[in-house]
Amino acid sequence: MQAVSSVAVLGATGSIGTSCLDVIRRHRSRMRAVGLTAYRNSGLLRQQVAEFQPDWAILDSQCRGTFIDDSPTRWHFDLELVCDLVRRPDVDVVVSAMVGAAGLPATIAAVDAGKRVALANKETMVVAGALVMNRAAETGATIIPVDSEHSAVYQCLQSGRPAEVKRVVLTASGGPFRGWTRSQLQTVTPQMALKHPTWQMGRKITIDSATMMNKALEIIEARWLFGLSRHQLAVVIHPQSVIHSLVEFADGAVITQMSPPDMRLPIQYALTYPSRLDCPAPSVDWASPMNLELSPPDFDTFPALRLGFEVAEAGGSAGVVLNAANEVAVERFLNLELRFDQITQVAEEILRHHQYDASPGLHSLMQLDGWARKEALRWTP
Ligand code: NDP
Repeated sequence: MQAVSSVAVLGATGSIGTSCLDVIRRHRSRMRAVGLTAYRNSGLLRQQVAEFQPDWAILDSQCRGTFIDDSPTRWHFDLELVCDLVRRPDVDVVVSAMVGAAGLPATIAAVDAGKRVALANKETMVVAGALVMNRAAETGATIIPVDSEHSAVYQCLQSGRPAEVKRVVLTASGGPFRGWTRSQLQTVTPQMALKHPTWQMGRKITIDSATMMNKALEIIEARWLFGLSRHQLAVVIHPQSVIHSLVEFADGAVITQMSPPDMRLPIQYALTYPSRLDCPAPSVDWASPMNLELSPPDFDTFPALRLGFEVAEAGGSAGVVLNAANEVAVERFLNLELRFDQITQVAEEILRHHQYDASPGLHSLMQLDGWARKEALRWTP
């Protein structure tokens, strides 16, 4: 009989978290949600607890005393306990799907405990990619990317040896403002930026996709996950979001992974790898015509892309500073304090004047994260 794997879903109430629970719902005989965590969305987490009956559920301390739940699940109101949850010996797989750098401590705890980590939280790799990969090599933790592009690369890499990889090409939909000019971008409102043409995602990543900072973060994530140099990385615009990325090998062969845009496939792959199972995501409809376009990105209109390559090459403290400044700038844009095009400007200026450290430890990374957030909060044009 197939062993049932015990899954802790961090960020269960989010876009990735709910898709992950849909995958678990489909494969109840193979996997069980043993722990669910969220921030303050107690209403949805309570519904999920009622359905999945995990052993633990964790929310922020502000939710303490706001409801009574008589299920057998142990409730905790302290997000620091998420690190204890992922270390438990009865947790096999940790799905890291919290948003932002807040996902870092629990993801590192899961890596330190040698778990399989289904990694959606790209910010962890942007902030501390070198450190996380070194620790995973020491503890034997397996990090399987959930990001659709990185999952595609992971799948394509099964076709050759690491030394045979010439280039990894990440696809980008181009977001809602593909084809726009820099001056047009000055007029973008949060409502416009929150409408993504092909993906349904959380607010922060949707804004990142519109500025193309999301692709910058993904370039940095790919650099660390797959041990690539800046020159082995490229980006191509693919508006249909069906080709999820490509790997070019030494002989010129280009291998790709294709499927309709739905995160349940990469999530499921990270949970069941190396097995492939029936999936709740839709399959390609081969009876309908399909037009797949690929074109080079516009680096002038979307300067975030260039920052992605720059930071991937620089390593060290560059990622944490870029990420923290961007997180704050996105919030300030959503609060109508910054213009859309100023999000990347803030991130770039703070990146340029930070004190670069080539190999920061975790403590320095946290200090730099705090510094960059303060700078981004007080930034004025
Ligand atoms: P959402 O905003 O939809 O969900 C975020 C989840 O994290 C929610 O469960 C939320 O809880 C929780 N959360 C928010 N803040 C904190 C905090 N400070 N501490 C602990 N938990 C917190 O995000 P997404 O699901 O879209 O994205 C999650 C991660 O996955 C991000 O890193 C994103 O870049 C990455 N990703 C997402 C993709 C997508 O398609 N959505 C694709 C590829 C990567 P609550 O609901 O209570 O606020």
